[in-house]
Order: sequence, then structure tokens, then C-alpha cells
Amino acid sequence: MKIFVVNAGSSSLKYQLIDMDNESVLAKGLCERIGVTGAISHKAADGREYKAETPMPTHSEAFEAVVYAMMKSDAKVIDSFDEISAIGHRIVQGGAIFKGSCLVNDKVIEQISELGAMAPLHNPAHVIAIKACIKTFGDKIPQVVVFDTSFHQTMPPKAYMYALPYDYYERLAVRKYGAHGTSHHFVSDRVAVLENKDKKDLKIITCHLGNGCSITAVKDGECKDTSMGFTPLDGFMMGTRSGSLDPSALTYIAEKDNLSAADINAICNKKSGMLGISGVSNDNRDIAAAAQSGNERARLAIDMQRYQILKFIGSYIAAMNGVDAIAFTGGIGENDPELREYVCENLKYMGVEIDKEANKCRGKEVKISTENSKVDIFVIPTNEELAIARDTLAIISK
Ligand code: ADP
Repeated sequence: MKIFVVNAGSSSLKYQLIDMDNESVLAKGLCERIGVTGAISHKAADGREYKAETPMPTHSEAFEAVVYAMMKSDAKVIDSFDEISAIGHRIVQGGAIFKGSCLVNDKVIEQISELGAMAPLHNPAHVIAIKACIKTFGDKIPQVVVFDTSFHQTMPPKAYMYALPYDYYERLAVRKYGAHGTSHHFVSDRVAVLENKDKKDLKIITCHLGNGCSITAVKDGECKDTSMGFTPLDGFMMGTRSGSLDPSALTYIAEKDNLSAADINAICNKKSGMLGISGVSNDNRDIAAAAQSGNERARLAIDMQRYQILKFIGSYIAAMNGVDAIAFTGGIGENDPELREYVCENLKYMGVEIDKEANKCRGKEVKISTENSKVDIFVIPTNEELAIARDTLAIISK
């Protein structure tokens, strides 16, 4: 059984074709510059590649290019649509409406569209992509939507409410929704497998550290709290995002510099975080290199981010009254031994003991704590596409 996984943005479309019999990737690819020019790069599992620059005025032409790559190009992997059992779409914002994945229908598309006010960069693009996908693949192949937010829907009100006048929650649905849920779900499930325990018996902290970063507390097999909030700006500093700060600092800046709410939003989302502090880059590799050669602001950015990560982990240990396992994932989590060592050294008081040799790993699933450690620490590469494919399979099998 083959499942086609789609992750669409406003000008890009990432996809994978996954064989669910052995959960292997048959092909994957990326369409870029949709609406501008258009380019596809596609790779089959055996290494055959197809690349083309082809006009993609809309997502429909992008899907046509993907179909050509999968069915007709030199890197083809299937003969016809009939081989695709279902299509799974990644959706960023499901609000409080979607507590789990579900089949696409007109009402679902409308609801995703309505939630666009809370994810203006993502949900409108997802809706366009779903419609284009139906146009290209027809309505015989079931389509499923999998939300970044649904794993966080188990948070209790004390965790997801903001202490604002209650009216904003009732009237505007302002509350914490979280993000990266598919990744936190996948990684926490994987921790339970590696621990050989029922997830219900574990207290787990998952740290998804990439361009966007979030940390989640998972207890009784459910998300109890997460660092991202109403939008993926909340939490701790990321590539270009500030994370949480005193809102009064923002109203002060807006008044002093005569900035609009949209200006402030853009500053906090695009010009802050590691980029804003270092002035070097949003990419941790560039910042680490700059710090190495003596750039003090780059050093400060690294120190700030590590400190904030440590504080979130500490707060979730308190929130869960302990922790059994901590997992690192995402580009930084999987590839930055120094950050992991910093966190573990600062949790020594809890009996955390890092295996420095094992911690040298990059991008691999490894237990990096010693046998004596009271908390197990893991590096677990996330696989959001596989998680989406699994959910899609579960929904169509119901
Ligand atoms: P996204 O959130 O866009 O999916 P990623 O999970 O790919 O991002 O993470 C991007 C971050 O991971 C960047 O800051 C990058 O520097 C860092 N990263 C990726 N690979 C490595 C590596 N080999 N060593 C250190 N950092 C890395």
C-alpha cells in the first residue's frame, strides 16, 4: 500500500511516496518557486533523479509535474494513480476544531480556510494545495489532513489559557495551540519503543530544535504542555523568531518607532531570534563558526538559546513532577552535541549523566546517557512524513 504525503507552502510543495508495507520511502521531491517560475527536483529511492524547470503558475501545475516525475520520468516509481491508496496533507493550524486527523471534505476545507487567520502563512496555502491535489488526482483517492496542532489538543486549560480578559478566548479563540505536534508525537512514541514501556507510564520531554523550535511535556501518553503558543512565535528564541518576551517591550518599541502591529509581527517573526542577536545568520552553523572566530554577539546568541532551552526543560520537569526521558530532534537537536552536553551537565542535580562518546553522534538515533543516568537522554531523528503517512493509513483503515 502506497501513501503520498504532501507538505505544501505558499510557493513550495514537498512530497514523499511511502510504501507502508515496510514504511520505506519510494521517492521524494520538492517543487519550488510556485507562482513565480517553477522547478521540480525528484529522487527515487534507488538514486535515480529527475530535475526540471517548468512553469508552475499555481499548485495545480506543480502537482502535474510531480505526477510526471512519479509516473513518466526516468525516475518514475509507479505506473498509475491506482497504486496510490491515499494522500496525506500536513496542515499547520487546526485550532481547537481538529483534535485529530480526518478525511478531507468540503466542510473540512472550509474550516481549514477559516483557521487561516491564525496561520496566515500556512493554512491558505494548504487549502490551495488540497484543491489542486483533488483536481490532479481526482476524488477517488481518499485525502487525509494531519494537523501540527492536534497532538497538543490534550493540554489542560491551565496550560493553554492566557491570563487575558476571558472574552478574548471566547470571542477570538485566543489561547495556546502549539505546533510541531506531528514531530513531538512521533518522537515521544519512539522514546516509548526505545524504553520498551507503555507511553502511559512515561514522563517525556521532547525538544524539537530546528529553524523553528519547540519543547513539549508528554505524560500519560499525552501532551500536557508545549512551548509554542497561539502561533509558532512563542516559546524560546529560534532562527529568526524572538520567542516569548514582555509584550510591554513591544508596545514601547511600537510607540517609539511609530510601528504598526504588522511591523511588530514581522520584526518578531523574521528579524529576531538567533539572527537578531548575532547579526550574522539564522543558521546555527554560521553562528557557531562566527562565535568560534571571536564574534561576541554570535556567542551571546548561542548562550541565550541554550539557557532558554534549559529553562523550558526545567519547567516541564516541575510541571510533570519528574521526567523519565528527554529526546532531542530537528536540525539542531540532532546535530549539536555541545548544546546537548550543556543541557545534560545542567541537569546533573537530577542524576542525568551524559555519555560523551555517544553524544558525538549526529543525525542518528542514539541513547546518549549512561546506564547509570537516572533520566534517559536520546537523539531521535524526527520523521514527520512517516507520521503523516501512518495517520493517513489509520484514518482510511477505519
Ligand atoms: P526546519 O525547522 O526548517 O525544518 P531544520 O530542522 O532543518 O529546520 O534545522 C535547521 C537548523 O539546524 C539550522 O540552524 C542549522 O544550522 C541546524 N543544523 C542542520 N544541520 C546541522 C549540522 N550538521 N550541524 C549543526 N547544526 C545543523
